[in-house]
Amino acid sequence: MAALDGLPPLRDVIRRHELDARKALGQNFLLDLNLTQKVARTAGSLEGVTVFEVGPGPGGLTRAILALGAKKVIAVERDARCLPALAEVAEHYPGRLEVIEGDALKTDFEALVPEGPVKIIANLPYNVGTQLLVNWLLPKAWPPFWQSLTLMFQKEVGQRIVAHEDDDHYGRLGVLCGWRTDAHMAFDVPPQAFTPPPKVTSTVVHLVPKANPLPCSAERLERVTQAAFGQRRKMLRQSLKSLGGEALLVKADIDPARRAETLSVEEFVRLANSL
Ligand code: SAM
Repeated sequence: MAALDGLPPLRDVIRRHELDARKALGQNFLLDLNLTQKVARTAGSLEGVTVFEVGPGPGGLTRAILALGAKKVIAVERDARCLPALAEVAEHYPGRLEVIEGDALKTDFEALVPEGPVKIIANLPYNVGTQLLVNWLLPKAWPPFWQSLTLMFQKEVGQRIVAHEDDDHYGRLGVLCGWRTDAHMAFDVPPQAFTPPPKVTSTVVHLVPKANPLPCSAERLERVTQAAFGQRRKMLRQSLKSLGGEALLVKADIDPARRAETLSVEEFVRLANSL
């Protein structure tokens, strides 16, 4: 049966182009176009929006984004084997899909920003997903070039992204995301939805930049969270010793006997600003 967008079913695309999934590239493909539409819809309206996608693979999510009306998709894919399949999608949507062959970790996304709004949507390769997210969260200027990030991660990473203080998953990633964005988990996706199925459940996370995050240097915030969570069971006077220990904590008006996981984002910002 042909798919709703008139393009061939993804199973056929994969067979025809011999796109057997490669583990080293984090290839777990989504073949159900209802599910890829659900992921794309999580990003909200795509009318007039340019979408940056990482890892389009055989193009399932890309097709959903285009069918939902994105003005354009700029997709970065490392695996050259996927390019002919993506060229078929590009032909079906003339002028609306640009594929860049390359490593997303080395791609200067800001340099690709066109006129008009940009959203990022991706089913990320698990081995580079967290690093890409951190890169998108760390630009000096804020708000960033993107209006939202809608990203598929392993569920455990999703839980770390949205975690708050006193939560088991709270750590450096939760502080960074909580400082600059409002993040929530939209829905889980079970392993069997992917080809091949990964070992664990996945989740779609949606992040929107805060208009006015608390003023702070990202580099200082990284330094305090790295030290504090590096020894998360210890009291902060101990774990922050190399950064000033008790004196730093007193300056930031934080009890030196507390532990990293009990500090709110606002308190971490206070610590960073007291360095
Ligand atoms: N978007 C497709 C889907 O949802 O079915 C594929 C998702 S698959 C989880 C991850 C994709 O990212 C693969 O196509 C893989 O080749 C690609 N990839 C892996 N590492 C990459 C990198 N460093 N830069 C760009 N793409 C990468």
